[in-house]
Amino acid sequence: MASLLFPTRCPVCDDILEPEEIEKGIHLVCESKIYPVQGAVCMHCGKPLASTSKEFCFDCSRLQRNIEQLKSQTAYPNQKIKLHTSSVTQVKSLYLYRGAIKHTMYKFKYSNKREYARFFAKQAVERLGWWLGVESPQPQSFQSTKISPQHTSVRPDIIIPVPMYEPKKRTRGYNQAESFAEELSRLTGIPVDKKLVKRVKDTTPQKSLNPEERKNNLKSAFQIQKNSVQYSHALVVDDIYTTGSTAEAVAQELIKKGVRQVYVLTVCIGGDI
Ligand SMILES: [Zn+2]
Ligand SMILES: [Zn+2]
Repeated sequence: MASLLFPTRCPVCDDILEPEEIEKGIHLVCESKIYPVQGAVCMHCGKPLASTSKEFCFDCSRLQRNIEQLKSQTAYPNQKIKLHTSSVTQVKSLYLYRGAIKHTMYKFKYSNKREYARFFAKQAVERLGWWLGVESPQPQSFQSTKISPQHTSVRPDIIIPVPMYEPKKRTRGYNQAESFAEELSRLTGIPVDKKLVKRVKDTTPQKSLNPEERKNNLKSAFQIQKNSVQYSHALVVDDIYTTGSTAEAVAQELIKKGVRQVYVLTVCIGGDI
Protein backbone atom coordinates (compact mmCIF):
# COMPACT_ATOMS: atom_id res chain seq x y z
CA MET A 1 0.00 0.00 0.00
CA ALA A 2 2.75 2.41 0.95
CA SER A 3 4.49 1.83 -2.37
CA LEU A 4 1.25 2.61 -4.21
CA LEU A 5 0.87 5.85 -2.33
CA PHE A 6 4.51 6.72 -2.75
CA PRO A 7 5.94 5.35 -5.99
CA THR A 8 9.64 5.12 -5.43
CA ARG A 9 10.93 7.50 -8.00
CA CYS A 10 14.16 9.42 -7.96
CA PRO A 11 13.44 13.02 -6.89
CA VAL A 12 15.96 14.35 -9.41
CA CYS A 13 15.30 12.49 -12.69
CA ASP A 14 11.89 11.06 -11.71
CA ASP A 15 12.75 7.58 -13.06
CA ILE A 16 11.68 4.58 -11.02
CA LEU A 17 14.40 3.37 -8.66
CA GLU A 18 15.83 -0.13 -8.79
CA PRO A 19 15.08 -2.23 -5.67
CA GLU A 20 18.63 -1.73 -4.35
CA GLU A 21 18.30 2.04 -4.74
CA ILE A 22 15.00 2.34 -2.88
CA GLU A 23 16.61 2.48 0.57
CA LYS A 24 18.73 5.46 -0.46
CA GLY A 25 15.81 7.07 -2.29
CA ILE A 26 17.89 8.63 -5.07
CA HIS A 27 20.19 7.52 -7.90
CA LEU A 28 23.86 7.86 -7.05
CA VAL A 29 24.50 9.89 -10.18
CA CYS A 30 21.52 12.14 -9.44
CA GLU A 31 22.70 12.71 -5.89
CA SER A 32 25.85 14.29 -7.30
CA LYS A 33 23.71 16.92 -9.05
CA ILE A 34 22.30 18.37 -5.84
CA TYR A 35 24.02 20.29 -3.08
CA PRO A 36 23.41 19.36 0.55
CA VAL A 37 23.93 22.08 3.12
CA GLN A 38 27.12 21.07 4.90
CA GLY A 39 30.07 22.48 6.77
CA ALA A 40 29.84 25.70 8.75
CA VAL A 41 26.44 27.34 8.65
CA CYS A 42 25.02 30.50 10.20
CA MET A 43 23.75 29.73 13.72
CA HIS A 44 20.58 31.63 12.99
CA CYS A 45 19.48 31.30 9.35
CA GLY A 46 21.47 28.18 8.46
CA LYS A 47 23.08 29.64 5.36
CA PRO A 48 26.56 28.30 4.64
CA LEU A 49 29.41 30.48 5.90
CA ALA A 50 32.55 31.22 3.95
CA SER A 51 34.63 31.26 7.11
CA THR A 52 34.47 28.67 9.87
CA SER A 53 35.59 31.26 12.40
CA LYS A 54 32.27 33.08 12.23
CA GLU A 55 29.04 32.05 13.95
CA PHE A 56 26.61 34.21 12.00
CA CYS A 57 26.28 35.39 8.40
CA PHE A 58 26.51 39.11 7.69
CA ASP A 59 22.76 39.75 7.98
CA CYS A 60 22.31 37.67 11.12
CA SER A 61 25.31 39.15 12.91
CA ARG A 62 23.56 42.52 12.53
CA LEU A 63 20.41 40.94 13.89
CA GLN A 64 22.34 39.47 16.79
CA ARG A 65 23.74 42.89 17.69
CA ASN A 66 20.19 44.24 17.68
CA ILE A 67 19.08 41.51 20.10
CA GLU A 68 22.01 42.29 22.43
CA GLN A 69 21.14 45.98 22.24
CA LEU A 70 17.50 45.24 23.00
CA LYS A 71 18.51 43.21 26.06
CA SER A 72 20.63 46.07 27.35
CA GLN A 73 17.73 48.47 26.78
CA THR A 74 15.52 46.66 29.29
CA ALA A 75 17.12 48.84 31.95
CA TYR A 76 15.58 51.84 30.22
CA PRO A 77 12.03 50.76 29.40
CA ASN A 78 10.89 54.25 28.38
CA GLN A 79 13.40 54.47 25.63
CA LYS A 80 11.53 53.21 22.58
CA ILE A 81 13.74 51.70 19.96
CA LYS A 82 12.77 49.99 16.78
CA LEU A 83 15.23 47.34 15.80
CA HIS A 84 14.95 44.49 13.41
CA THR A 85 14.94 41.23 15.32
CA SER A 86 13.59 37.80 14.52
CA SER A 87 10.82 35.68 16.01
CA VAL A 88 12.52 32.59 14.62
CA THR A 89 15.14 31.09 16.90
CA GLN A 90 16.94 29.01 14.30
CA VAL A 91 16.61 27.81 10.70
CA LYS A 92 17.97 24.62 9.15
CA SER A 93 17.72 23.52 5.54
CA LEU A 94 18.69 20.36 3.71
CA TYR A 95 19.82 21.57 0.29
CA LEU A 96 21.08 24.66 -1.45
CA TYR A 97 18.56 25.93 -3.94
CA ARG A 98 20.82 25.45 -6.91
CA GLY A 99 21.48 22.84 -9.57
CA ALA A 100 19.07 20.00 -10.32
CA ILE A 101 17.04 20.46 -7.14
CA LYS A 102 15.40 23.57 -8.59
CA HIS A 103 13.50 21.37 -11.03
CA THR A 104 12.76 18.87 -8.25
CA MET A 105 11.23 21.63 -6.14
CA TYR A 106 9.15 22.84 -9.05
CA LYS A 107 7.70 19.35 -9.52
CA PHE A 108 7.21 18.96 -5.76
CA LYS A 109 5.16 22.15 -5.75
CA TYR A 110 3.26 22.13 -9.02
CA SER A 111 3.30 18.65 -10.59
CA ASN A 112 1.78 16.57 -7.81
CA LYS A 113 5.14 15.06 -6.90
CA ARG A 114 4.30 15.14 -3.23
CA GLU A 115 5.89 11.71 -2.78
CA TYR A 116 9.29 13.46 -2.86
CA ALA A 117 8.41 14.51 0.70
CA ARG A 118 9.34 10.99 1.76
CA PHE A 119 12.93 11.43 0.56
CA PHE A 120 13.20 14.91 2.09
CA ALA A 121 11.86 13.75 5.46
CA LYS A 122 14.24 10.79 5.49
CA GLN A 123 17.13 13.12 4.75
CA ALA A 124 15.99 15.45 7.53
CA VAL A 125 15.99 12.61 10.07
CA GLU A 126 19.32 11.18 8.91
CA ARG A 127 21.15 14.48 8.82
CA LEU A 128 19.29 16.59 11.37
CA GLY A 129 17.97 13.90 13.70
CA TRP A 130 20.30 15.25 16.43
CA TRP A 131 18.72 18.69 16.02
CA LEU A 132 15.16 17.38 16.04
CA GLY A 133 15.95 15.31 19.11
CA VAL A 134 15.24 11.98 17.44
CA GLU A 135 17.61 9.16 16.74
CA SER A 136 18.93 8.83 13.25
CA PRO A 137 18.09 5.41 11.77
CA GLN A 138 21.32 5.15 9.79
CA PRO A 139 23.75 7.72 11.13
CA GLN A 140 26.73 6.20 9.36
CA SER A 141 25.42 6.35 5.80
CA PHE A 142 25.48 10.09 5.33
CA GLN A 143 28.73 11.02 7.07
CA SER A 144 29.94 13.13 4.17
CA THR A 145 26.82 15.26 4.06
CA LYS A 146 26.34 15.64 7.78
CA ILE A 147 25.62 19.16 8.94
CA SER A 148 28.01 20.06 11.74
CA PRO A 149 26.23 20.15 15.09
CA GLN A 150 26.73 23.76 16.12
CA HIS A 151 23.76 23.71 18.40
CA THR A 152 22.00 21.48 20.84
CA SER A 153 18.85 19.57 20.06
CA VAL A 154 15.68 21.67 19.85
CA ARG A 155 13.12 18.89 20.42
CA PRO A 156 10.04 20.52 18.92
CA ASP A 157 6.69 19.38 20.35
CA ILE A 158 4.77 20.22 17.19
CA ILE A 159 5.37 20.46 13.44
CA ILE A 160 3.52 23.25 11.65
CA PRO A 161 3.55 23.43 7.85
CA VAL A 162 3.44 26.92 6.31
CA PRO A 163 -0.18 27.04 5.20
CA MET A 164 -1.37 27.77 1.69
CA TYR A 165 -4.28 30.09 0.92
CA GLU A 166 -7.32 27.72 0.87
CA PRO A 167 -8.66 28.55 -2.63
CA LYS A 168 -5.15 28.15 -4.00
CA LYS A 169 -4.75 24.80 -2.27
CA ARG A 170 -8.07 23.60 -3.69
CA THR A 171 -6.93 24.51 -7.19
CA ARG A 172 -3.53 22.88 -6.80
CA GLY A 173 -4.87 19.91 -4.85
CA TYR A 174 -2.28 19.87 -2.06
CA ASN A 175 0.21 21.90 -0.08
CA GLN A 176 3.77 20.59 -0.46
CA ALA A 177 4.75 21.96 2.97
CA GLU A 178 2.01 19.77 4.49
CA SER A 179 3.33 16.72 2.63
CA PHE A 180 6.80 17.37 4.05
CA ALA A 181 5.36 17.93 7.55
CA GLU A 182 3.34 14.70 7.44
CA GLU A 183 6.28 12.56 6.34
CA LEU A 184 8.50 14.17 8.95
CA SER A 185 5.90 13.49 11.59
CA ARG A 186 5.61 9.85 10.48
CA LEU A 187 9.37 9.34 10.82
CA THR A 188 9.93 11.31 14.03
CA GLY A 189 6.72 10.75 15.96
CA ILE A 190 6.41 14.51 16.49
CA PRO A 191 2.76 15.43 15.86
CA VAL A 192 1.74 17.79 13.08
CA ASP A 193 -0.88 20.54 13.34
CA LYS A 194 -2.21 21.62 9.94
CA LYS A 195 -5.13 23.61 11.27
CA LEU A 196 -3.55 25.97 13.78
CA VAL A 197 -2.24 28.55 11.32
CA LYS A 198 -4.40 29.77 8.47
CA ARG A 199 -3.32 31.82 5.49
CA VAL A 200 -6.06 34.40 5.14
CA LYS A 201 -4.56 36.43 2.33
CA ASP A 202 -3.48 35.40 -1.13
CA THR A 203 -0.04 36.93 -1.29
CA THR A 204 1.68 38.06 -4.46
CA PRO A 205 4.60 35.80 -5.38
CA GLN A 206 7.29 37.01 -3.02
CA LYS A 207 10.12 36.86 -5.53
CA SER A 208 8.78 39.87 -7.44
CA LEU A 209 9.02 42.07 -4.34
CA ASN A 210 11.81 43.84 -2.49
CA PRO A 211 12.39 42.99 1.22
CA GLU A 212 10.23 45.86 2.51
CA GLU A 213 7.38 45.00 0.14
CA ARG A 214 7.64 41.36 1.18
CA LYS A 215 7.08 42.27 4.79
CA ASN A 216 4.08 44.46 3.99
CA ASN A 217 2.70 41.83 1.68
CA LEU A 218 2.75 39.29 4.50
CA LYS A 219 1.28 41.59 7.13
CA SER A 220 -1.80 39.89 8.55
CA ALA A 221 -1.48 37.11 5.97
CA PHE A 222 -1.51 34.45 8.72
CA GLN A 223 -4.00 33.90 11.51
CA ILE A 224 -3.92 31.57 14.49
CA GLN A 225 -7.15 29.62 14.79
CA LYS A 226 -7.08 29.25 18.58
CA ASN A 227 -7.08 31.75 21.44
CA SER A 228 -4.32 30.10 23.34
CA VAL A 229 -1.74 27.72 22.03
CA GLN A 230 -0.28 25.05 24.29
CA TYR A 231 2.82 24.32 22.21
CA SER A 232 6.16 25.32 23.59
CA HIS A 233 8.64 24.60 20.78
CA ALA A 234 7.20 24.74 17.27
CA LEU A 235 8.93 23.56 14.13
CA VAL A 236 7.61 25.45 11.11
CA VAL A 237 8.32 23.60 7.86
CA ASP A 238 8.30 24.81 4.29
CA ASP A 239 9.80 23.93 0.92
CA ILE A 240 12.15 26.86 0.28
CA TYR A 241 13.67 29.50 2.56
CA THR A 242 14.73 32.61 0.69
CA THR A 243 14.52 35.86 2.65
CA GLY A 244 12.77 34.19 5.57
CA SER A 245 9.90 36.68 5.53
CA THR A 246 7.20 33.99 5.24
CA ALA A 247 8.55 31.93 8.14
CA GLU A 248 9.02 35.12 10.14
CA ALA A 249 5.38 36.14 9.59
CA VAL A 250 4.15 32.72 10.79
CA ALA A 251 6.55 32.77 13.76
CA GLN A 252 5.40 36.22 14.85
CA GLU A 253 1.80 35.01 15.11
CA LEU A 254 2.82 31.87 17.02
CA ILE A 255 4.91 33.85 19.51
CA LYS A 256 2.01 36.27 20.06
CA LYS A 257 -0.13 33.29 21.11
CA GLY A 258 2.36 32.01 23.62
CA VAL A 259 4.67 29.64 21.74
CA ARG A 260 8.07 30.02 23.38
CA GLN A 261 10.42 29.11 20.55
CA VAL A 262 9.88 28.80 16.82
CA TYR A 263 12.33 26.83 14.68
CA VAL A 264 12.21 26.51 10.93
CA LEU A 265 13.13 23.57 8.71
CA THR A 266 13.02 23.83 4.94
CA VAL A 267 14.00 21.49 2.13
CA CYS A 268 16.00 24.19 0.33
CA ILE A 269 17.68 27.42 1.19
CA GLY A 270 18.18 30.07 -1.45
CA GLY A 271 19.03 33.73 -1.58
CA ASP A 272 22.43 35.36 -1.75
CA ILE A 273 24.54 32.32 -1.20
ZN1 LIG B 1 17.71 9.87 -10.78
ZN1 LIG C 1 22.36 34.04 8.90
